[in-house]
Amino acid sequence: MLPKRFAVRHTSKQAGPSPIFPRSKSILSVLVLLILCVIVCCSALFAQSNNSSQKTEGVIQKAIAQFERSPLRTLSLGSGIYMFSGDGGNVVAVADDSSTLLIDSGIESRAAELDAAVFEATHRPITRLINTHSHFDHTGGNALFGSAGVTIIAQRNVKARLSSEQDVPFIDLHDGPYPNQALPSLTYADNLTLEQGSEQLRLAHFGAAHTDGDTIVFLEPANVVILSDIFSEPFYPIIDFTSGGSLQGIIDSIDQVLSASNEQTRYVPGHGPLATRADLQAYRNMLVTIRDRITTLVRSGKTMDQVVAAQPTKDFDAKWGTGYVDGNVFAKMAYASIAGH
Ligand SMILES: [Zn+2]
Repeated sequence: MLPKRFAVRHTSKQAGPSPIFPRSKSILSVLVLLILCVIVCCSALFAQSNNSSQKTEGVIQKAIAQFERSPLRTLSLGSGIYMFSGDGGNVVAVADDSSTLLIDSGIESRAAELDAAVFEATHRPITRLINTHSHFDHTGGNALFGSAGVTIIAQRNVKARLSSEQDVPFIDLHDGPYPNQALPSLTYADNLTLEQGSEQLRLAHFGAAHTDGDTIVFLEPANVVILSDIFSEPFYPIIDFTSGGSLQGIIDSIDQVLSASNEQTRYVPGHGPLATRADLQAYRNMLVTIRDRITTLVRSGKTMDQVVAAQPTKDFDAKWGTGYVDGNVFAKMAYASIAGH
């Protein structure tokens, strides 16, 4: 059900007032708008009725419900930089005198709302959009922004992922393919530096971590690092190992970030509030401890079920296990990543 739902929604047009879509005053446009509203409402009801028929609520269903209902919040980080949260993964906007650069685009159903919130904060049109990776809660606004002429920028593997169907094991996520206007038009391999006003954005891909197309953005002189889903605060991360992600890759990328930042750095996680260096270090230490425990179990020949039964995350679950994945699901992901299957 989800792949079809996403596939349909990724090709749908967004309605409503938007800074990048000026209002039309023609009667025809109003009629088209009404028809679109009816279609969107019917689609939503259909999707809801499908959801209610499910016996259990999965990780993705819970996350989507949260993304669709949470208020969209705006936090100023100073220097024309804003963080938006609630409509999927965290979004960051960087404004200069004439334009706004956006980092990630939330879920598709709230893209017009995000667009309006960004304009309200920056009063500048969005001209560039960076995707930190390919997941739907970070790329849902791509079709809206891309069809309005916004340049979409990403690590090159993101374009390949969005161009095809994506499946993430253990959390039952199926998505894509995305329409052409939602695909990145500017890609890079390892590093790309952009300027936005007085801010320099260093885009770094330190190898596969959460996925095989992760971008970490270093903002200078603001001293802000956007880690996306390599860092969830305070949740266990999702390891999309069929898209090349791995637990070791996440740890390696965090180590690169820690060595390239300092005590004053502010860290934007993929989900959760703005974080400090101590928060990121605590997260890194939790991952390393669980990695070491599961590695020991794998080397002694334990199966996935036996690893889960050993509860290698138990003492961390109260703090980290209340997000999108609980300790058992994270233990399965970590086992698969470490054991290679
Ligand atoms: Zn993700």
